[in-house]
Amino acid sequence: QYAGPSMEESVRLRSQHLFPSTHGFAYYKQPLMIHQGHMQWMWDSTGKRYLDLFGGIVTVSVGHCHPKVVAAAEAQMRKLWHTTVIYRYPTLDQYVEKLTKKMPGDLKVVYMVNSGSEANDLAMLLARLHTGCYDIIGLRSGYHGTSPNLMGLTALSTWHYNLPSGFGIHQTVNPDPYRGVWGGKHCRDSPCQSNRSCDCASANSCTASDQYVDQLEDVLRFCCPKGRVGGMFVESIQGVGGTIQFPRTFLQRAFKTIRQHGGVCISDEVQTGFGRTGEHFWGFEGHGVVPDIVTMAKGIGNGFPMAAVVTTPEIAKNLSAATHFNTFGGNPVACAVGSAVLDVIEEDKCQARSADVGTYFIQELAKLRDSYDIVGDVRGKGLMIGMEMVHDKASRKPLAASDMLDIWETTKELGLLVGKGGYYGNVFRIKPPMCISRADVDYSIHVFRIAIDKFLRTRKA
Ligand code: PMP
Repeated sequence: QYAGPSMEESVRLRSQHLFPSTHGFAYYKQPLMIHQGHMQWMWDSTGKRYLDLFGGIVTVSVGHCHPKVVAAAEAQMRKLWHTTVIYRYPTLDQYVEKLTKKMPGDLKVVYMVNSGSEANDLAMLLARLHTGCYDIIGLRSGYHGTSPNLMGLTALSTWHYNLPSGFGIHQTVNPDPYRGVWGGKHCRDSPCQSNRSCDCASANSCTASDQYVDQLEDVLRFCCPKGRVGGMFVESIQGVGGTIQFPRTFLQRAFKTIRQHGGVCISDEVQTGFGRTGEHFWGFEGHGVVPDIVTMAKGIGNGFPMAAVVTTPEIAKNLSAATHFNTFGGNPVACAVGSAVLDVIEEDKCQARSADVGTYFIQELAKLRDSYDIVGDVRGKGLMIGMEMVHDKASRKPLAASDMLDIWETTKELGLLVGKGGYYGNVFRIKPPMCISRADVDYSIHVFRIAIDKFLRTRKA
């Protein structure tokens, strides 16, 4: 039973005491007062239940308040909370051993931090120290965080202030199979099967990939002194940018190019890690690459604030040139939680479930795409899914924000919580806790159909 302040009281308190930027997001017309969560479900203050397809922005990996994770946190909280530095305690040692067992190659050394932004900031510092090069490359439409450095790397202008940010950061053209300059209807192999992902005739020598790698080489040639670069950041599937998957060979070739120019390759696995893509534990594995640095957050703690950078001993050494520490990164409670999350992923077979339920979800959404002109594209892997809404399929014009909101509001009224993103805000983002079932998918599809039908009936001509 909810006994907290009313919605009106909450609105008053927030508008008086919180930065407007923290509560002014264009979310639902009628905001939700969320009260409780359990596995894939959340309840609002009136007791209404919702199926959560967004998991606190891809954060709740194994289920809201998963009993095993809660028990681990509680037990550790009764025993010891402390800063990471100064003394030794075994929770950290045990956790990093367990985490690195999940990593390929030489990726065996961990630095624990508290958020995705901190992890990416540290990765950028490491890339610069290791290579002696300041220049860093990112992809347009990528999201990596909001620290001053990362604002420049996050290549979505909606997240930028009118201030210089990200010195030495350059963005290359985003290999977006649906909207990219060589993607979708512009692809030489058109119709590009994009995400149905580039398994077109030339799957192993995608001509669009050629063009995008050429562009990357241009950036290196024109923007980076002597063509040398510190590194490149990528999300193996872009999250905030609207669940964008790259043409299949792009990452392999981009990583090779970056290494030829002296740089290190950084995979931001903040959204794609921990089994979410189903087929693999890490998103980069789906591209057949091994990065030099991997950053992770969100799902690592099932919603508990913790994050990590994993790299090779060789790269990690660079940080020893000065004192560098993080008060809370890898604190005992975070490590107990992280360790329980890894166990639960294993025990509850989350990765296999992501593959099974996620593939089913994508197939069912594809039926919506085939039956509605305003569903432009359905893409993703496992439970990292995007459904891009358009004015009509032929023009691919993004569905207007107010139209998106209409559909979105109906899904919420019908008990379904979905994310949205993409530069134009026209992509429904579906990244639920990995415990959802096929029956939940059927329910979601039913809700989407009702919401889209309702919108189309009332759509202004
Ligand atoms: N990288 C990616 C891919 C993200 O999606 C996010 C958060 N949306 C971040 C980094 C930043 O994480 P945080 O908000 O924890 O700083």
